[in-house]
Amino acid sequence: MFDASDPNRPLRDPGATSDRRAMNDRGATSDRGATRDRGATRDRGATILHADLDAFYASVEQRDDPRLRSRPVIVGAGVVLAASYEAKACGVRTAMGGTQARRLCPRAIVVSPRMSAYSEASKAVFKVFEETAPLVEGLSIDEAFLDVRGLGHISGSPLEIAIQLRKEIRRQVGLPITVGIARTKFLAKVASALAKPDGLLVIPPDGELALLHLLPVERLWGVGRVTAAKLHGRGITTVGQVAQLGERALVSMLGRASGRHLHALAHNQDLRPVQSRRRRRSIGAQRALGRRRRSHEELTTALIGLVERVARRLRTARRLCRTVVLRMRFEDFSRATRSHTMVEPTDQTFAILATATGLLMASRPMIERRGLTLIGIALANLADSRAVQLVLPFDRRRELDIAIDAVHERFGTAAITRGVLIGHDPGVWVPLLPD
Ligand SMILES: [Mg+2]
Repeated sequence: MFDASDPNRPLRDPGATSDRRAMNDRGATSDRGATRDRGATRDRGATILHADLDAFYASVEQRDDPRLRSRPVIVGAGVVLAASYEAKACGVRTAMGGTQARRLCPRAIVVSPRMSAYSEASKAVFKVFEETAPLVEGLSIDEAFLDVRGLGHISGSPLEIAIQLRKEIRRQVGLPITVGIARTKFLAKVASALAKPDGLLVIPPDGELALLHLLPVERLWGVGRVTAAKLHGRGITTVGQVAQLGERALVSMLGRASGRHLHALAHNQDLRPVQSRRRRRSIGAQRALGRRRRSHEELTTALIGLVERVARRLRTARRLCRTVVLRMRFEDFSRATRSHTMVEPTDQTFAILATATGLLMASRPMIERRGLTLIGIALANLADSRAVQLVLPFDRRRELDIAIDAVHERFGTAAITRGVLIGHDPGVWVPLLPD
């Protein structure tokens, strides 16, 4: 676990050092009451764990089929969805084209993804997370932050908790997981990346700055291609160089918000707490229409507004939906819902709108009979977009076709015709409706 044999991984220290760190953690916890400076992270030990399954999909495949063990495995015949560490060693990377991947690693065994197996494994892993810490913040299907502060007397030091966590996930779910431990989320994530695969790494408080300043600027949270290019243009490539700049210089270079943000991060001020997020089961919006009878065009306009709102929220939450639900309330206060499940999950406005419009069309006779006083849209059957995004076809037109086909199949070809784009705003799609 603490592999000190690899000289390229100086931070994966031997157990003795780590044990000493664990002692330090206990010390820091016991005198926590003495310092009450909330502005600094200095008053506590490293208690944030970033736990990240290794080559998740590929590891599930190797777990379930012994013939795949210790062999290069690629999940996904088209785009590479996951590569085992044996395949990574040949240079295969996630999101790489299948042809290139097979050229790099001709011995690789290519398997089709089994999303239900991954989702089941993920649930089992998160169950262990929840049993380990009161605060668990899921980041995606295979990684989470855990805050183990205050568990010293119950479960041991953060290091001991992490050792136990890795053992439990191996025992209960049969998968390798890497854990990074630090005082901030950012550094905990850096630690797990450094410790991969199947490793464990603690960044002790007194080692934080040295490590942080070695990192390339791209590793800083919030630094995208544009900011990185601006910094590179001035010869700044490491976080250490950013730290030497001073806030004013950074603000004049990158603007106020970005400059301040970077200045804080480069000085190790990352106060984001671990926050457990109850994941929503659906995302919805509704609109009361009053008692006046609305034309079908007015209802369509209202529907478009609702779809755009919920689709945007869906994308912000990094999720995909498969089911679109149309909610209706009528003049006599009775309610009805109509739903349609799409062939593939999506977060695209036009796909959702096509389905929603189809549902509205199909409900038209009922609406004309009973009078609509409220219209709502809910997106259900949600999945994590980072888990399934790569399975989606990359051609947007094909996505649109799939959705329209689904509506056609269910409601007949008169239900909807192809959408038209108004102006140049790709966010606004208005379907052409038959009169
Ligand atoms: Mg992972």
